[in-house]
Amino acid sequence: MATSFSDLQIDRVVPVNEFIDSIKNPIKKEMIAYLIEWSTSIYPLIRNATLNLPSEPPILRVSNELEPQAQCMEGLIEISSGLINYCLGIQFLDVESVLNIQANVGPMFFPASTLTWFYSHECFHIGRQHNLLLDHVEADPNTLRAIERDADLCAVAVLYRAYQAHFQNRLTDDELRKLVLYAVFWALRTLTDKPQLTHSRPDDRIIYATMKLAIVTESQSTSHVDVGMAWPETRARANSLFETLAAIDKSFRAANPDIVSDFSLRARLEEKANGVGDQSTEFWDAIRIKHSVLTGQRS
Ligand SMILES: [Zn+2]
Repeated sequence: MATSFSDLQIDRVVPVNEFIDSIKNPIKKEMIAYLIEWSTSIYPLIRNATLNLPSEPPILRVSNELEPQAQCMEGLIEISSGLINYCLGIQFLDVESVLNIQANVGPMFFPASTLTWFYSHECFHIGRQHNLLLDHVEADPNTLRAIERDADLCAVAVLYRAYQAHFQNRLTDDELRKLVLYAVFWALRTLTDKPQLTHSRPDDRIIYATMKLAIVTESQSTSHVDVGMAWPETRARANSLFETLAAIDKSFRAANPDIVSDFSLRARLEEKANGVGDQSTEFWDAIRIKHSVLTGQRS
């Protein structure tokens, strides 16, 4: 059952604490406070992963927009109450039955992961200085999608770091990556029917996230990253993660037979193999050197 927060009455954009204070229902208030705390608590991990972010996290504000939305500017992130409701309303299946991983997480773990992923995405727009890049390249739709892809992938990697810290050694590295994939799948899967203006399609975004999870190094201090998937172990990990993704998608479809959309991992992978479809990787490759020179960051 979807959770309704229609009694949230704000008529403007307010600081996040003011937003939380405005929630009358104590259970809702606690749930939302938990989501916000979990999400913003990973800011130090985000800072570790990029340059140019101050020690103080961006100011977080909440708007009364009902659609799930987030945006950022220097020092400021604005999320909609619709995004919070969206994260709380996702109907996650039991992860143990879908992935056979004994994660032992509470009911708020994946909703919090979802908001964390969106929050991180916005932080990386700031930290990766995408606005500076946009001062120097033409903001055509393909370039914008490439920049969104960069923020997506950084957010995937930092959620993996957050899970490493959260689960310590209770789960294997393989299990951690699968859990991150699970969280990102649910974050994006039901955005399918919403208009996607600057982002790639949700199925493409999930495919890129899967590839990122295959190449992100277990240790953050490892300098060489197998971006080209040249190593057999990277390819084996990618195969395993894509099998997991297919299993998650199958479970989602079985549990949601009424959701009709053109979301299709198989079709998008086939298009990608044939060199058509989403080109955000190629467009990022075209601007990555410029990004690296402008920002001094690994691109
Ligand atoms: Zn974005």
